[in-house]
Amino acid sequence: MELHEYQAKNLFAKAGMRTQKGVVIDDAAQCDSALAELSLPIVVKAQVHAGGRGKAGAIKFSQTADEVRTHATNILGMTLKTKQTGNAGLTVHRVLLAQACDIASELYVSVLTDRETGQPVLIASRGGGMDIEETAASDPDAILKLQLDPGVGIPDDESRRVHAFWCPDNAFPEQETLTLLSALYRTYFDNDASMVEINPVAVTPEGELVAIDAKMSVDDNARFRHPEWDAFELDEEQDAREREAAQYGLSYIKVGEGSIGCMVNGAGLAMATMDVITLFDARPANFLDVGGGATAENVTAAFRILAGDPDVKAILVNIFGGIMRCDVIAEGVLAALRSVELDVPLIVRLEGTNVEEGRRMIAESGLKCQTASDLTEAARLAAEASRGGC
Ligand code: GDP
Ligand code: MG
Repeated sequence: MELHEYQAKNLFAKAGMRTQKGVVIDDAAQCDSALAELSLPIVVKAQVHAGGRGKAGAIKFSQTADEVRTHATNILGMTLKTKQTGNAGLTVHRVLLAQACDIASELYVSVLTDRETGQPVLIASRGGGMDIEETAASDPDAILKLQLDPGVGIPDDESRRVHAFWCPDNAFPEQETLTLLSALYRTYFDNDASMVEINPVAVTPEGELVAIDAKMSVDDNARFRHPEWDAFELDEEQDAREREAAQYGLSYIKVGEGSIGCMVNGAGLAMATMDVITLFDARPANFLDVGGGATAENVTAAFRILAGDPDVKAILVNIFGGIMRCDVIAEGVLAALRSVELDVPLIVRLEGTNVEEGRRMIAESGLKCQTASDLTEAARLAAEASRGGC
């Protein structure tokens, strides 16, 4: 799960980092009460799960209260398109009014989990405010990378190395770097984050380090020990179908503008299904992963959710019965078909334990549904059906 800038900054501040004072609002009418807590100038910042907001006009410097109100009114509700949002863009539901900070120079720092080693790595750069990928390509010497031991964190001598790298001219005290890095690592570790990034860290004319921006992702696998994460999910940002799916323990993913609704079990099978559908010149509209314990009740919910997507012109069920037997899955599919009115063609491909029994049950049910013996055939039938071919 990704956090918003204001959510991550709250965690940074709790860990002892210096951040800007700020108030988040979801209605421009709240500007006045927010202004009472802050002093001008103020930066009005769109809260969306994407960077590059500055260049897209969603970060506005305001010298007066009137400017704050105007910018908040303009930014709230706008559809923001940056290179990280995709073509559809993201609607801005909230803005952060942050007390502006004087900036002498900008730095970059992040801690993220290295997928290869499974260990945290710290990345520091002198190119603050820039895309780290761009810096890596244009000026690799401006980047310092340190492998960390999760049990140790960032030892002081490593923090001093970062300080010497960031600040060869001693423009700010070493203690500033030590405090910032220790709070950054604490935030990463205590919150089961997979990534924490500050881009930029502002160096103020007084020689203080302040987190101006914040990006943070937490590892969903650790959700069971973080009930506080519920508060990070904003209702207005959740897709209604995703929410319904979550209630049944299903994961629903909307993909692009395709026309085939896919019910699968497992992320790997979802990927394979998408590849094979693409071979037949069609695209999935969505995926619903019913996981390992599909019951008649959640398969019924799955059909309802899939059929509710107006882009879906055909449904492909592609399930591998390993621990879960195919006859049990077929029973679930048939029970669902009896209670959900489907007005799009349905293609079912089952494989695995008791597959003959499962196929026989579907074939003999008399319900309108095609069975396929392998994924290629199933994908071909679904592609044709989605084009109105059967
Ligand atoms: P992003 O564009 O989504 O990465 O948003 P940031 O929060 O990183 O802001 C973009 C840029 O706006 C920063 O790199 C700064 O140069 C500038 N900026 C943001 N906040 C402040 C501030 O409080 N004071 C000043 N002087 N500049 C700021
Ligand atoms: Mg930034």
